[in-house]
Amino acid sequence: MISVIEARDAILDQVRPLGTERVDLFSAMDRVLAEDVYATRNQPPWDNSAMDGFAVRAADTRSASPTHPVTLQIIEDLPAGYRAKNKVESGQAIHIMTGAPVPEGADAILRSEITERLDTHHVQVFQPTSTGVDLRRVGEDITDGDLLFPAGTLIRPAEIGLLASTNRAYISVYRRPRVAVLSTGDEIIDIDDEMEDGKIVDSNGYTLSALVLDAGAEVIRLGICHDTQEALEQKLREGLSSDVIITSGGVSVGEYDFVKSALEALGTTMEFWKVAMTPGRPLAFGMIQDTLAFGLPGNPVASMVTFELFTRPVLLKMQGYTHLYRPSVRAILLEDIKKVSGRKQFIRMQLQRRENLIYASRTGAQGSGILRSMSLADGLAITHEDQEFLKAGDEIEVMLLGGLGDLSRQRNC
Ligand code: AMP
Ligand code: MG
Repeated sequence: MISVIEARDAILDQVRPLGTERVDLFSAMDRVLAEDVYATRNQPPWDNSAMDGFAVRAADTRSASPTHPVTLQIIEDLPAGYRAKNKVESGQAIHIMTGAPVPEGADAILRSEITERLDTHHVQVFQPTSTGVDLRRVGEDITDGDLLFPAGTLIRPAEIGLLASTNRAYISVYRRPRVAVLSTGDEIIDIDDEMEDGKIVDSNGYTLSALVLDAGAEVIRLGICHDTQEALEQKLREGLSSDVIITSGGVSVGEYDFVKSALEALGTTMEFWKVAMTPGRPLAFGMIQDTLAFGLPGNPVASMVTFELFTRPVLLKMQGYTHLYRPSVRAILLEDIKKVSGRKQFIRMQLQRRENLIYASRTGAQGSGILRSMSLADGLAITHEDQEFLKAGDEIEVMLLGGLGDLSRQRNC
C-alpha cells in the first residue's frame, strides 16, 4: 500500500506546465499568465478630480468657516473627458466632475458638500482645504514602465481591468489541458440508452467531466467501453491526442477488470497502486506516449475523491497554478465516528457556522457508491491513517469541495 501523500507527490513530480497560447482578455479569466507584463502608460494618465466639486487653490480657502465663508468666482464648468480652457487664478474656481483633469493653477478639489453655489458665477466655501486633497495623482495606480504582473500571476477580474487600463487586449497564458474521459463496464449505459435489466446509467462520465471543467480543463468525452481488452485498448488509443486520459472502473482485481492490462499494454510507465485511503484504493497512473493516464476506481464517490486528490492538482499544475490544493477549514465535530483504521478516510461532511465557529457532521451513509451523500457535502474531513475513532468535540480538518467552497451559500436556492 502507498500513502495518499506519497502517491500524490509521485504523480505531481511527473507533471510540468503545458505550453502557452495568446488569448483575448475575456478568455484569460482564471488562467495563469505566462509572460511578464509591463505597463505602457500611467494610470491615471494625469492628476484628476476624485470628487464632484470645485478645483481651487487651497491657499484661497485658508480662512473659510461656516460663519465666515469665502466666496470664489466660478470661471468654467468642466465635465470628465475634457481639459479646462482656463487656468485657475487666485480667487477663482472651476466646477469640476469626478475624473476630469485637474486644471492648471488648481491644487485641491473642494467636494460639493462643503460648498454652496450662489449663482452661475459664485460659490461659497465653508471649510478650508489643503494642497492635494481629493486629487488622484498621475500614475498612482500604474506607473509607466513598471512590471505590472510577473509571469505566474492568476488572472482574476481586477487583473483583467488593469490589463485593459494599459491597453493589453491579448496576453499569453498557459494552455488548458485537454482531458479525455472514459467510463468502463459491461453494466454501464448512457443517459439516453434504453434501460435494460442489470444495467446502470453512467454517472462517473458526467461527474468526472464536470470536475474536469471545474478545474479549468477541456473535456473530450470518449463515452462508454465494454470490459474487453481489445475494446479498451482501442478507446485508450482514441484518447492519445489528449493531454490526459481518465478512465473509471475496471482497476480492481475482478475477473472483468481489464483496464489495468489495457493501460499496461499501451503505457510504458504505468503504476498500479493500492492507496491507503477510503473511499478509493485502486489507482492506476502513468504515461502513454505523451499522455498522462489515470485509471480511477468505478464506485461513484471513489472516482470523485481520487479525482479531487490526484487528478485535480495535476490539471491545475499543467495550467501553471502553484496553489494546487483545495482550501480547508478547521471544524468541530458534532458526532462520534468510528473510522476505517489503517487508511486515510475522507468523510463527507456538512458544515454549519455558528458564532464564528464551524461545526461538522456527516452527510449520511458513507458507502463509496452513495453519491447522494457527496452531493450533500460541503467538504471532506481528512483523517489520519492510524486513527480509529473521532470524538464529538474534536477539532478536525475539512477540505472544502466545489465552487468557491463558500460556507455562506444557501443550499436549495
Ligand atoms: P468497478 O471498479 O468497475 O468494479 O466498479 C465498481 C462499482 O462502480 C460497480 O458497482 C459499478 O457498477 C460502479 N460503476 C462503475 N462505473 C460506473 C459509472 N461510469 N457510473 C456509475 N457507476 C459506475
Ligand atoms: Mg467494472
